[in-house]
Amino acid sequence: MNTMHDLLLETARHLLQEPVAILYNMPADARLLAHAQRSIKGIAVINMSPLIAGDDLATYIFLHECAHLKLQRFKHLPVKERPTMPDKGTGYKREIYQKHENEADTLARHWLSWGRLHNKDGSLSQMEAVCTALLEYPIDDTKGMK
Ligand SMILES: [Zn+2]
Repeated sequence: MNTMHDLLLETARHLLQEPVAILYNMPADARLLAHAQRSIKGIAVINMSPLIAGDDLATYIFLHECAHLKLQRFKHLPVKERPTMPDKGTGYKREIYQKHENEADTLARHWLSWGRLHNKDGSLSQMEAVCTALLEYPIDDTKGMK
């Protein structure tokens, strides 16, 4: 494991049990700090905005996007089509959007606290500590929850 990027790739691959690509492109909308998508070939892709400030926030956002890929189905789209801020819509569409956000938040918080609890090295940054611990996260078929 050489760089933080390598560690994020390994962590995402372990949590999702599939290869994941991580990009660091500027978002179409600066408010959209990260997003998850599936490429035309169905490859899981996470984009982390270079504008994300802070280790704690970056760690949480990374896990939140992993959780979306773990929990929800995505249309296969060209990666170059960068999403704008999601349209939350109204009524049913808004409910689904909120449900997916809540599910991703719940799983991200679970992974985060598991990672903190199992961190063995107090000298690491939060992202390094949590991700390194999560490489040992027990994987089962209960949608990421343990
Ligand atoms: Zn989300």
